[in-house]
Amino acid sequence: ATPTAVTCATGLFTRLGVVARRPGVFEKLPKVDQVVFDKTGTLTCGSLTLSETQRFTHDESLEVLAIAAAMESQSIHPIAKAFTPYYQTGYRLSESQYVAGEGVIASVNDTRYFLGSADFIRGNTQLGDIKGDHSVYLADKTRLLAGFTLSDTIREDAKATLHTLKEMGFATCIASGDTSEHVEQVAAEVGIDTLHKGLKPQDKLQLINQLRDQGKQVVMFGDGVNDAPVLAGANLSVAMGSGADIAKNSADLILLGDQLSRFPQAVRIAKLTEQIIR
Ligand code: ADP
Ligand code: MG
Repeated sequence: ATPTAVTCATGLFTRLGVVARRPGVFEKLPKVDQVVFDKTGTLTCGSLTLSETQRFTHDESLEVLAIAAAMESQSIHPIAKAFTPYYQTGYRLSESQYVAGEGVIASVNDTRYFLGSADFIRGNTQLGDIKGDHSVYLADKTRLLAGFTLSDTIREDAKATLHTLKEMGFATCIASGDTSEHVEQVAAEVGIDTLHKGLKPQDKLQLINQLRDQGKQVVMFGDGVNDAPVLAGANLSVAMGSGADIAKNSADLILLGDQLSRFPQAVRIAKLTEQIIR
């Protein structure tokens, strides 16, 4: 693009609240035709709260919420915040280890626990049969102790933005690490065509590569600490202004004020810029 057109587009972006972090963004924006959203923090607000606890153990002395809160006390994942209100002193955390996009293994008062997705629990314990449809489970080596339902609200402008993007010809897809029904609920509510769930960060990257191999020009929306490599694999990447710093540092575009609707507007500006300079 000519310097003048880019300067002009940059000014319009600033007014819109969109930060273009890399040269070449204005050339790439008119070409993208496939959006991929990581659910938590992009389509949803990412302020998770605990809405239900299902106990699977009859051992009443086990304070499952206090154990979970201790395990999450060093995590910056949005899931961790849902447990903060249940933190109690006297639950001593040691040997805490985080597996990105899966869960936490840690000792609390010298007992080893596993807190994470159903797959993560299966992979680290002898537990095969996992009941319920929870995003997060707590187990020790031999017992499933509890399942936690977390709720998150869908962003106000998500549905309208998806509608606009489809009108503009975008194929739409959600790529979530979550395995619960919540993924289907969010996809249905905002109107997303294709749904992939239970994806680890490397699976998300593989999905992006597949779409690119099919000839798609992929724009990935992510906000989390685990999303950086996935963002880097897309043709264009978008982070939310409130997202993790590492996501913002790997993204081409940042949407200030967390307004999804600014993305289709940015595409329109870039298309107009392209027409002017032709
Ligand atoms: P998303 O794709 O929704 O951003 P992630 O890839 O970050 O989700 O995580 C996928 C799944 O891994 C979560 O739904 C949860 O089951 C588990 N998980 C990830 N981080 C944590 C954590 N800090 N504590 C417990 N479970 C976690
Ligand atoms: Mg994430």
